[in-house]
Amino acid sequence: MIEEKIKKLKKERDAIILAHNYQLPEVQDIADFVGDSLELARIAKEVKEKVIIFCGVHFMAETASILAPDKIVILPDLHAGCPLANSITPEDILNLKEKYKDYAVVSYINTTAEVKAVSDYICTSANAVSVVEKISEDKIIFVPDRNLGYYVSKHTKKEMIIWDGFCPTHQRILPQNILKLKEKHKDAKILVHPECRKEVLDLADKVASTSGIIKHVKEDDHHRYIIGTEAGLLHRLRKEVPNKEFFLASPLAVCANMKKITLEKILWSLEDLAPQVKVPDHIREKALIPIMRMLSL
Ligand code: SF4
Repeated sequence: MIEEKIKKLKKERDAIILAHNYQLPEVQDIADFVGDSLELARIAKEVKEKVIIFCGVHFMAETASILAPDKIVILPDLHAGCPLANSITPEDILNLKEKYKDYAVVSYINTTAEVKAVSDYICTSANAVSVVEKISEDKIIFVPDRNLGYYVSKHTKKEMIIWDGFCPTHQRILPQNILKLKEKHKDAKILVHPECRKEVLDLADKVASTSGIIKHVKEDDHHRYIIGTEAGLLHRLRKEVPNKEFFLASPLAVCANMKKITLEKILWSLEDLAPQVKVPDHIREKALIPIMRMLSL
C-alpha cells in the first residue's frame, strides 16, 4: 500500500510530513502535523528531522525554508502556487512605499519570499487584527488580500490602504450560498474565513482562521455549522469533532492548487528528495525580519 511505502521511506530519509488544513483527506491522514500557515511555520522552525515534506502551496514551503534554512524543504508539486500570493510583486510594494512614505507595510503570510523581504511586518489570518493593533505605526499599507484587509479595518481605528487582491477559492463562496443553507438548517451557526468576500463576512456569526474555526467548534455548544472556507477543512472538522454536523458553504470552495499534492507525489518526492524549495540567503535574511517581528508580537 502506498501509505506503508511512504511511512517506511519517511523514516529512512529522516523526514517529517506537514500538511495544511486544505489538503486532500488522504494527505492529511498521512501527515505528522496538520495545521494552518502559522502553526506549520512554527513547527517547521522546531522539527528535528532533516527533511520537511511540505504539503501545501509554494509560499508556505518558502516560509518553512526561511525559518529552517538548514533543512531540506520539499514541495511535492512545484506547480502548487497561490494566485493570491502572486497578485503582488516586490516592485508593487516598493512603489507603494515610495508613494506613501510614512506607512508601514503589513503583508499577509500568503505572499512570496521576495514580497516578504520588502515588507515591515507579516501577519496571518489568525493574528492580522492583533498585528495591526500592536505595531507602533498608525498608517498601514495592507497587502495582498482585500477581504482580510476589510475585516481588519473594521476592527481598528488605524488608517489603512488595502491592496485589491483576493483568493479565487474563497471568492467563489457567495452570500446566496450561505442564505440557502441557513434556510435549510436554521439552527446552524455561520463560521467563515476572513478571505471570503465582504458580503459573506457580514453574514457570519464568527469570522476566524482555519485554526480559529476548529477551536471554536470544539469549545462551542452549538451542533451544526455552515463553514465558509476551503473544502479540506471539513475533513479535519468531521474527524476531530465527529458528534457535530458541518455544511460546506459552497461546493466550489475547492483550491485546485492545494489539491495538486497527492500521495503518489509525496512518495516520489521522498524517493528523489525533490523538488526542493530553497530561498536564497540574500532574500531569506530580509524576509526573516518581518516574520520574526510577527512571531515576537
Ligand atoms: Fe491561495 Fe486561496 Fe488556495 Fe489558499 S485557498 S492557497 S489563498 S488560492
